[in-house]
Amino acid sequence: MRFSVPYALLGLAIAAALPAPALAEVLAVQCPALVDTAAGKLAGASTVVIEGNRIREVRPGQAAPEGARVIALPAGSTCLPGLMDMHTHLTSETSRDSYSEGFRNNDADIAFKGSVFAERTLLAGFTTVRDLGERGSGVSISLRNAINQGMLKGPRMFSAGKSIASTGGHADPTNGARRGLLPDPGPEDGVVNNVDDARKAVRQHYKDGADLIKITATGGVLSYAKSSDNPQFTVEEIQAIVATAKDYGYTVAAHAHGKEGMRRAIVGGVTSIEHGTHMDAELFPLMKKHGTWYVPTIIAGAFVTEKAAEPGYYPEIVRPKALAIGPKIKGTAGAAYKAGVKIAFGTDAGVFPHGQNAREFELMVDAGMPPMFALQSATTHAAELLGQSADLGTLEAGKLADLVAVPGNPVEDISVMKRVSFVMKDGVVYRQP
Ligand SMILES: [Zn+2]
Repeated sequence: MRFSVPYALLGLAIAAALPAPALAEVLAVQCPALVDTAAGKLAGASTVVIEGNRIREVRPGQAAPEGARVIALPAGSTCLPGLMDMHTHLTSETSRDSYSEGFRNNDADIAFKGSVFAERTLLAGFTTVRDLGERGSGVSISLRNAINQGMLKGPRMFSAGKSIASTGGHADPTNGARRGLLPDPGPEDGVVNNVDDARKAVRQHYKDGADLIKITATGGVLSYAKSSDNPQFTVEEIQAIVATAKDYGYTVAAHAHGKEGMRRAIVGGVTSIEHGTHMDAELFPLMKKHGTWYVPTIIAGAFVTEKAAEPGYYPEIVRPKALAIGPKIKGTAGAAYKAGVKIAFGTDAGVFPHGQNAREFELMVDAGMPPMFALQSATTHAAELLGQSADLGTLEAGKLADLVAVPGNPVEDISVMKRVSFVMKDGVVYRQP
Protein backbone atom coordinates (compact mmCIF):
# COMPACT_ATOMS: atom_id res chain seq x y z
CA MET A 1 0.00 0.00 0.00
CA ARG A 2 2.74 2.47 0.97
CA PHE A 3 4.20 2.24 -2.56
CA SER A 4 0.98 3.12 -4.32
CA VAL A 5 1.45 6.88 -4.30
CA PRO A 6 5.02 6.96 -5.74
CA TYR A 7 4.02 4.37 -8.35
CA ALA A 8 1.05 6.46 -9.36
CA LEU A 9 3.31 9.55 -9.66
CA LEU A 10 5.85 7.58 -11.68
CA GLY A 11 3.05 6.45 -14.02
CA LEU A 12 1.98 10.05 -14.55
CA ALA A 13 5.53 11.14 -15.22
CA ILE A 14 5.93 8.44 -17.89
CA ALA A 15 2.61 9.34 -19.50
CA ALA A 16 3.61 13.01 -19.65
CA ALA A 17 6.96 12.18 -21.24
CA LEU A 18 5.48 10.05 -24.02
CA PRO A 19 4.79 11.87 -27.29
CA ALA A 20 1.08 11.04 -27.20
CA PRO A 21 -0.68 12.35 -30.33
CA ALA A 22 -3.86 12.89 -28.33
CA LEU A 23 -2.05 15.61 -26.37
CA ALA A 24 -0.98 17.59 -29.49
CA GLU A 25 -1.96 21.22 -29.35
CA VAL A 26 -5.13 22.09 -31.22
CA LEU A 27 -4.93 25.31 -33.20
CA ALA A 28 -7.83 27.14 -34.79
CA VAL A 29 -6.91 29.55 -37.58
CA GLN A 30 -9.82 31.89 -38.22
CA CYS A 31 -9.86 33.01 -41.85
CA PRO A 32 -12.11 35.89 -42.96
CA ALA A 33 -12.15 34.16 -46.40
CA LEU A 34 -10.57 31.05 -47.84
CA VAL A 35 -9.63 29.85 -51.33
CA ASP A 36 -11.12 26.40 -51.83
CA THR A 37 -8.63 25.14 -54.41
CA ALA A 38 -10.41 21.77 -54.71
CA ALA A 39 -13.69 23.39 -55.78
CA GLY A 40 -12.03 26.35 -57.50
CA LYS A 41 -14.02 28.93 -55.56
CA LEU A 42 -13.67 31.51 -52.85
CA ALA A 43 -15.32 30.50 -49.56
CA GLY A 44 -16.42 32.92 -46.84
CA ALA A 45 -15.28 33.03 -43.22
CA SER A 46 -13.84 29.66 -42.21
CA THR A 47 -11.94 28.13 -39.33
CA VAL A 48 -9.14 25.68 -40.06
CA VAL A 49 -8.67 23.37 -37.08
CA ILE A 50 -5.19 21.89 -36.82
CA GLU A 51 -3.97 19.08 -34.60
CA GLY A 52 -0.25 18.38 -34.68
CA ASN A 53 0.87 18.70 -38.29
CA ARG A 54 -2.49 17.80 -39.88
CA ILE A 55 -5.73 19.61 -40.61
CA ARG A 56 -8.45 18.06 -38.44
CA GLU A 57 -11.37 20.00 -39.84
CA VAL A 58 -12.32 23.04 -41.91
CA ARG A 59 -15.56 24.50 -40.58
CA PRO A 60 -17.59 27.45 -41.85
CA GLY A 61 -17.68 30.55 -39.62
CA GLN A 62 -15.35 31.63 -36.84
CA ALA A 63 -16.23 29.13 -34.12
CA ALA A 64 -13.14 27.48 -32.61
CA PRO A 65 -13.39 24.16 -30.77
CA GLU A 66 -13.15 24.39 -27.00
CA GLY A 67 -9.58 24.45 -25.69
CA ALA A 68 -8.06 25.33 -29.06
CA ARG A 69 -5.46 28.08 -29.33
CA VAL A 70 -7.04 30.64 -31.64
CA ILE A 71 -5.18 32.59 -34.33
CA ALA A 72 -7.59 35.21 -35.65
CA LEU A 73 -6.34 36.61 -38.96
CA PRO A 74 -7.05 40.32 -39.62
CA ALA A 75 -10.18 41.41 -41.47
CA GLY A 76 -9.73 41.27 -45.23
CA SER A 77 -7.29 38.33 -45.12
CA THR A 78 -7.74 35.29 -47.34
CA CYS A 79 -6.35 31.86 -46.49
CA LEU A 80 -4.92 29.46 -49.05
CA PRO A 81 -3.15 26.12 -48.92
CA GLY A 82 0.65 26.47 -48.65
CA LEU A 83 2.02 27.54 -52.05
CA MET A 84 4.09 25.10 -54.10
CA ASP A 85 6.84 26.14 -56.54
CA MET A 86 7.72 23.31 -58.92
CA HIS A 87 10.97 24.84 -60.17
CA THR A 88 13.51 26.33 -57.80
CA HIS A 89 17.29 26.29 -57.35
CA LEU A 90 17.70 26.89 -53.62
CA THR A 91 21.48 26.45 -53.74
CA SER A 92 22.17 29.33 -56.12
CA GLU A 93 21.18 32.87 -57.03
CA THR A 94 22.51 34.58 -60.14
CA SER A 95 24.40 37.84 -59.98
CA ARG A 96 27.20 39.55 -61.89
CA ASP A 97 29.51 37.20 -59.99
CA SER A 98 27.81 33.92 -60.91
CA TYR A 99 30.18 32.86 -63.66
CA SER A 100 33.27 33.03 -61.48
CA GLU A 101 31.99 32.19 -58.01
CA GLY A 102 31.85 28.50 -58.93
CA PHE A 103 35.64 28.58 -58.83
CA ARG A 104 35.72 30.15 -55.37
CA ASN A 105 32.81 28.71 -53.43
CA ASN A 106 33.13 25.54 -51.39
CA ASP A 107 30.11 23.38 -50.68
CA ALA A 108 29.88 25.01 -47.24
CA ASP A 109 29.58 28.48 -48.84
CA ILE A 110 26.82 27.17 -51.07
CA ALA A 111 25.05 25.54 -48.13
CA PHE A 112 25.06 28.69 -45.97
CA LYS A 113 23.60 30.73 -48.82
CA GLY A 114 21.07 27.98 -49.52
CA SER A 115 19.82 28.12 -45.94
CA VAL A 116 19.10 31.85 -46.36
CA PHE A 117 17.37 31.31 -49.73
CA ALA A 118 15.26 28.49 -48.23
CA GLU A 119 14.03 30.70 -45.38
CA ARG A 120 13.18 33.53 -47.79
CA THR A 121 11.19 31.11 -49.91
CA LEU A 122 9.22 29.81 -46.93
CA LEU A 123 8.45 33.31 -45.62
CA ALA A 124 7.12 34.25 -49.08
CA GLY A 125 4.48 31.55 -48.58
CA PHE A 126 6.06 28.69 -50.50
CA THR A 127 5.82 25.72 -48.15
CA THR A 128 6.78 23.10 -50.77
CA VAL A 129 9.26 23.23 -53.67
CA ARG A 130 10.77 20.97 -56.29
CA ASP A 131 14.43 21.83 -56.41
CA LEU A 132 15.59 21.22 -59.97
CA GLY A 133 19.36 21.27 -60.10
CA GLU A 134 21.86 22.10 -57.41
CA ARG A 135 25.25 23.75 -56.98
CA GLY A 136 27.75 21.86 -54.89
CA SER A 137 27.84 18.15 -54.34
CA GLY A 138 24.64 16.95 -52.66
CA VAL A 139 24.03 20.34 -51.03
CA SER A 140 20.31 20.49 -51.91
CA ILE A 141 19.83 17.05 -50.40
CA SER A 142 21.62 18.08 -47.19
CA LEU A 143 19.53 21.27 -47.14
CA ARG A 144 16.33 19.21 -47.48
CA ASN A 145 17.45 16.95 -44.63
CA ALA A 146 18.35 19.86 -42.35
CA ILE A 147 14.93 21.46 -42.97
CA ASN A 148 13.14 18.16 -42.35
CA GLN A 149 15.07 17.73 -39.09
CA GLY A 150 13.92 21.17 -37.94
CA MET A 151 17.44 22.66 -37.95
CA LEU A 152 16.67 25.23 -40.64
CA LYS A 153 13.58 27.13 -41.72
CA GLY A 154 12.63 26.30 -45.26
CA PRO A 155 10.06 24.74 -47.54
CA ARG A 156 9.37 21.02 -47.79
CA MET A 157 11.87 20.16 -50.53
CA PHE A 158 11.68 17.53 -53.25
CA SER A 159 15.22 17.60 -54.57
CA ALA A 160 16.50 16.46 -57.95
CA GLY A 161 20.10 16.82 -56.76
CA LYS A 162 22.35 17.66 -59.70
CA SER A 163 20.67 18.04 -63.14
CA ILE A 164 21.60 15.35 -65.66
CA ALA A 165 23.12 16.67 -68.93
CA SER A 166 25.26 15.51 -71.84
CA THR A 167 28.81 16.76 -72.49
CA GLY A 168 28.72 20.52 -73.14
CA GLY A 169 24.99 20.44 -72.35
CA HIS A 170 23.11 23.01 -70.30
CA ALA A 171 24.02 21.36 -66.98
CA ASP A 172 27.56 20.23 -67.76
CA PRO A 173 29.25 21.71 -64.66
CA THR A 174 32.51 22.39 -66.56
CA ASN A 175 31.01 24.64 -69.27
CA GLY A 176 33.03 27.79 -69.74
CA ALA A 177 36.16 26.43 -68.04
CA ARG A 178 39.31 25.99 -70.11
CA ARG A 179 40.12 22.40 -71.10
CA GLY A 180 42.16 20.59 -68.46
CA LEU A 181 41.23 22.96 -65.65
CA LEU A 182 38.57 20.57 -64.32
CA PRO A 183 38.31 16.79 -64.76
CA ASP A 184 35.96 15.54 -67.49
CA PRO A 185 32.65 14.93 -65.65
CA GLY A 186 30.91 11.53 -65.91
CA PRO A 187 27.63 9.96 -64.75
CA GLU A 188 28.59 10.43 -61.06
CA ASP A 189 28.62 14.17 -61.82
CA GLY A 190 25.40 13.98 -63.84
CA VAL A 191 27.00 14.01 -67.33
CA VAL A 192 26.02 11.13 -69.64
CA ASN A 193 26.55 10.30 -73.32
CA ASN A 194 24.94 6.88 -73.78
CA VAL A 195 22.13 4.78 -72.32
CA ASP A 196 24.36 2.92 -69.84
CA ASP A 197 25.69 6.17 -68.39
CA ALA A 198 22.11 7.49 -68.33
CA ARG A 199 21.04 4.55 -66.17
CA LYS A 200 24.09 4.95 -63.94
CA ALA A 201 23.41 8.65 -63.39
CA VAL A 202 19.84 7.91 -62.25
CA ARG A 203 21.05 5.16 -59.91
CA GLN A 204 23.72 7.49 -58.54
CA HIS A 205 20.92 9.96 -57.74
CA TYR A 206 19.12 7.22 -55.82
CA LYS A 207 22.30 6.47 -53.91
CA ASP A 208 22.76 10.18 -53.18
CA GLY A 209 19.21 10.47 -51.82
CA ALA A 210 17.47 12.52 -54.53
CA ASP A 211 13.66 12.61 -54.74
CA LEU A 212 13.29 12.95 -58.52
CA ILE A 213 15.33 13.43 -61.69
CA LYS A 214 15.95 16.60 -63.69
CA ILE A 215 17.43 16.54 -67.20
CA THR A 216 18.44 19.36 -69.52
CA ALA A 217 16.90 18.19 -72.81
CA THR A 218 18.04 21.27 -74.78
CA GLY A 219 20.52 24.08 -74.45
CA GLY A 220 19.69 26.80 -71.94
CA VAL A 221 20.01 30.53 -71.46
CA LEU A 222 22.50 30.95 -68.65
CA SER A 223 25.01 28.19 -69.46
CA TYR A 224 28.29 29.29 -71.05
CA ALA A 225 27.41 27.83 -74.48
CA LYS A 226 26.09 29.12 -77.77
CA SER A 227 22.64 27.59 -78.24
CA SER A 228 19.60 27.68 -75.98
CA ASP A 229 17.62 25.47 -78.33
CA ASN A 230 19.64 22.49 -79.62
CA PRO A 231 18.59 18.96 -78.58
CA GLN A 232 21.08 17.48 -76.11
CA PHE A 233 19.92 13.87 -75.64
CA THR A 234 18.82 11.12 -77.99
CA VAL A 235 15.34 9.66 -77.47
CA GLU A 236 17.05 6.41 -76.40
CA GLU A 237 19.01 8.21 -73.66
CA ILE A 238 15.85 9.92 -72.41
CA GLN A 239 13.93 6.63 -72.45
CA ALA A 240 16.74 4.98 -70.46
CA ILE A 241 16.58 7.78 -67.88
CA VAL A 242 12.78 7.64 -67.63
CA ALA A 243 12.64 3.82 -67.39
CA THR A 244 15.36 3.70 -64.74
CA ALA A 245 13.74 6.58 -62.86
CA LYS A 246 10.49 4.59 -62.73
CA ASP A 247 12.32 1.68 -61.04
CA TYR A 248 13.08 4.02 -58.15
CA GLY A 249 9.66 5.71 -58.04
CA TYR A 250 11.11 8.88 -59.54
CA THR A 251 9.45 11.38 -61.86
CA VAL A 252 11.55 13.19 -64.50
CA ALA A 253 11.50 16.95 -65.10
CA ALA A 254 12.95 18.12 -68.43
CA HIS A 255 14.34 21.58 -69.06
CA ALA A 256 13.60 22.41 -72.75
CA HIS A 257 13.47 25.51 -74.96
CA GLY A 258 13.86 24.16 -78.53
CA LYS A 259 11.21 22.06 -80.25
CA GLU A 260 13.19 18.98 -81.27
CA GLY A 261 14.70 18.38 -77.82
CA MET A 262 11.28 19.03 -76.28
CA ARG A 263 9.63 16.56 -78.66
CA ARG A 264 12.20 13.88 -77.73
CA ALA A 265 11.60 14.51 -74.03
CA ILE A 266 7.80 14.25 -74.38
CA VAL A 267 7.99 11.10 -76.51
CA GLY A 268 10.67 9.73 -74.17
CA GLY A 269 8.13 9.89 -71.33
CA VAL A 270 9.24 12.72 -69.03
CA THR A 271 6.76 13.96 -66.42
CA SER A 272 7.12 17.70 -67.01
CA ILE A 273 8.55 20.18 -69.50
CA GLU A 274 10.22 23.19 -67.85
CA HIS A 275 10.21 26.61 -69.63
CA GLY A 276 8.94 25.07 -72.92
CA THR A 277 9.72 28.28 -74.77
CA HIS A 278 9.15 27.14 -78.36
CA MET A 279 6.25 24.82 -77.56
CA ASP A 280 3.56 25.42 -80.17
CA ALA A 281 0.39 24.13 -81.85
CA GLU A 282 2.34 21.10 -83.05
CA LEU A 283 3.59 20.17 -79.58
CA PHE A 284 0.49 21.06 -77.47
CA PRO A 285 -1.41 17.95 -78.69
CA LEU A 286 1.68 15.80 -78.05
CA MET A 287 1.88 17.14 -74.47
CA LYS A 288 -1.81 16.31 -73.98
CA LYS A 289 -1.49 12.86 -75.54
CA HIS A 290 1.36 11.93 -73.19
CA GLY A 291 -0.18 13.68 -70.16
CA THR A 292 2.98 15.79 -69.83
CA TRP A 293 2.89 18.72 -67.39
CA TYR A 294 4.08 22.19 -68.39
CA VAL A 295 5.92 24.38 -65.85
CA PRO A 296 6.34 27.75 -67.63
CA THR A 297 8.65 29.85 -65.36
CA ILE A 298 7.51 33.14 -66.98
CA ILE A 299 9.22 35.24 -64.33
CA ALA A 300 12.63 33.77 -65.21
CA GLY A 301 12.04 34.86 -68.82
CA ALA A 302 11.05 38.34 -67.69
CA PHE A 303 14.08 38.64 -65.41
CA VAL A 304 16.71 37.55 -67.95
CA THR A 305 15.17 39.90 -70.55
CA GLU A 306 15.53 42.78 -68.10
CA LYS A 307 19.10 41.88 -67.10
CA ALA A 308 20.27 41.29 -70.69
CA ALA A 309 19.76 45.02 -71.22
CA GLU A 310 22.14 45.82 -68.35
CA PRO A 311 25.70 45.96 -69.76
CA GLY A 312 28.01 43.36 -68.26
CA TYR A 313 25.40 41.50 -66.22
CA TYR A 314 25.67 38.39 -68.40
CA PRO A 315 28.65 37.26 -70.52
CA GLU A 316 28.32 38.13 -74.22
CA ILE A 317 27.66 34.49 -75.13
CA VAL A 318 24.59 34.48 -72.87
CA ARG A 319 23.04 37.86 -73.73
CA PRO A 320 21.57 37.02 -77.17
CA LYS A 321 20.04 33.84 -75.77
CA ALA A 322 18.40 35.78 -72.94
CA LEU A 323 16.98 38.27 -75.44
CA ALA A 324 15.62 35.51 -77.70
CA ILE A 325 14.12 33.23 -75.02
CA GLY A 326 13.17 35.63 -72.22
CA PRO A 327 10.35 37.57 -73.89
CA LYS A 328 8.80 34.48 -75.50
CA ILE A 329 7.81 32.34 -72.50
CA LYS A 330 4.75 34.37 -71.46
CA GLY A 331 3.11 34.02 -74.89
CA THR A 332 3.83 30.28 -74.93
CA ALA A 333 2.31 29.87 -71.45
CA GLY A 334 -0.87 31.69 -72.52
CA ALA A 335 -1.19 29.60 -75.70
CA ALA A 336 -0.57 26.35 -73.79
CA TYR A 337 -3.31 27.29 -71.30
CA LYS A 338 -5.75 27.94 -74.16
CA ALA A 339 -4.79 24.61 -75.76
CA GLY A 340 -5.63 22.79 -72.52
CA VAL A 341 -2.11 21.66 -71.58
CA LYS A 342 -1.76 20.72 -67.88
CA ILE A 343 0.09 23.56 -66.14
CA ALA A 344 1.83 23.60 -62.75
CA PHE A 345 3.33 26.69 -61.11
CA GLY A 346 7.11 27.07 -61.26
CA THR A 347 9.48 30.01 -61.34
CA ASP A 348 13.14 28.99 -61.74
CA ALA A 349 13.89 30.93 -58.53
CA GLY A 350 17.64 31.39 -58.31
CA VAL A 351 17.68 32.81 -61.84
CA PHE A 352 16.04 35.80 -60.07
CA PRO A 353 16.25 36.58 -56.32
CA HIS A 354 14.67 33.97 -54.04
CA GLY A 355 11.52 35.13 -52.27
CA GLN A 356 10.07 36.92 -55.33
CA ASN A 357 8.43 33.69 -56.54
CA ALA A 358 4.88 35.06 -56.24
CA ARG A 359 5.46 37.52 -59.12
CA GLU A 360 4.79 34.48 -61.32
CA PHE A 361 1.06 34.63 -60.38
CA GLU A 362 0.72 38.12 -61.90
CA LEU A 363 2.56 37.04 -65.04
CA MET A 364 0.33 33.97 -65.45
CA VAL A 365 -2.77 36.15 -65.22
CA ASP A 366 -1.13 38.58 -67.65
CA ALA A 367 -0.60 35.64 -70.01
CA GLY A 368 -4.35 35.00 -70.02
CA MET A 369 -4.92 32.51 -67.21
CA PRO A 370 -7.78 33.17 -64.75
CA PRO A 371 -6.53 34.01 -61.23
CA MET A 372 -8.17 30.87 -59.78
CA PHE A 373 -6.34 28.72 -62.34
CA ALA A 374 -3.03 30.35 -61.38
CA LEU A 375 -3.77 29.64 -57.69
CA GLN A 376 -4.67 26.02 -58.47
CA SER A 377 -1.47 25.63 -60.51
CA ALA A 378 0.48 26.34 -57.29
CA THR A 379 -1.68 24.08 -55.10
CA THR A 380 -3.83 21.25 -56.50
CA HIS A 381 -1.96 20.96 -59.83
CA ALA A 382 1.46 21.06 -58.20
CA ALA A 383 0.40 18.42 -55.65
CA GLU A 384 -0.75 16.20 -58.52
CA LEU A 385 2.52 16.70 -60.41
CA LEU A 386 4.42 15.73 -57.25
CA GLY A 387 2.18 12.73 -56.59
CA GLN A 388 1.36 14.29 -53.19
CA SER A 389 -2.36 15.01 -53.58
CA ALA A 390 -3.19 12.92 -50.51
CA ASP A 391 -1.17 15.31 -48.30
CA LEU A 392 -0.90 18.66 -50.08
CA GLY A 393 -2.68 21.15 -52.33
CA THR A 394 -5.98 21.79 -50.50
CA LEU A 395 -7.23 22.86 -47.08
CA GLU A 396 -9.13 19.71 -46.16
CA ALA A 397 -9.37 17.33 -43.20
CA GLY A 398 -6.44 14.90 -43.14
CA LYS A 399 -4.04 17.03 -45.22
CA LEU A 400 -0.75 18.36 -43.90
CA ALA A 401 -1.23 21.69 -42.12
CA ASP A 402 0.38 23.99 -44.72
CA LEU A 403 -1.57 27.22 -44.76
CA VAL A 404 -0.83 30.78 -45.85
CA ALA A 405 -2.80 34.02 -45.86
CA VAL A 406 -2.67 37.20 -47.91
CA PRO A 407 -4.06 40.63 -46.96
CA GLY A 408 -6.77 40.82 -49.65
CA ASN A 409 -8.69 38.79 -52.20
CA PRO A 410 -6.31 37.15 -54.70
CA VAL A 411 -9.17 36.18 -57.04
CA GLU A 412 -9.89 39.90 -57.56
CA ASP A 413 -6.33 41.18 -57.21
CA ILE A 414 -3.67 38.56 -57.91
CA SER A 415 -0.85 40.97 -56.95
CA VAL A 416 -1.77 40.44 -53.29
CA MET A 417 0.04 37.08 -53.57
CA LYS A 418 3.30 39.05 -53.32
CA ARG A 419 2.33 40.13 -49.79
CA VAL A 420 1.90 36.85 -47.91
CA SER A 421 1.23 37.76 -44.26
CA PHE A 422 0.82 34.38 -42.57
CA VAL A 423 2.77 31.17 -43.12
CA MET A 424 2.24 27.80 -41.47
CA LYS A 425 4.08 24.64 -42.55
CA ASP A 426 3.43 21.27 -40.95
CA GLY A 427 1.37 22.93 -38.23
CA VAL A 428 4.17 25.34 -37.25
CA VAL A 429 3.68 29.10 -37.66
CA TYR A 430 6.65 30.86 -39.36
CA ARG A 431 5.07 34.20 -40.13
CA GLN A 432 2.22 36.14 -38.58
CA PRO A 433 0.62 39.47 -39.46
ZN1 LIG B 1 15.98 25.97 -63.76
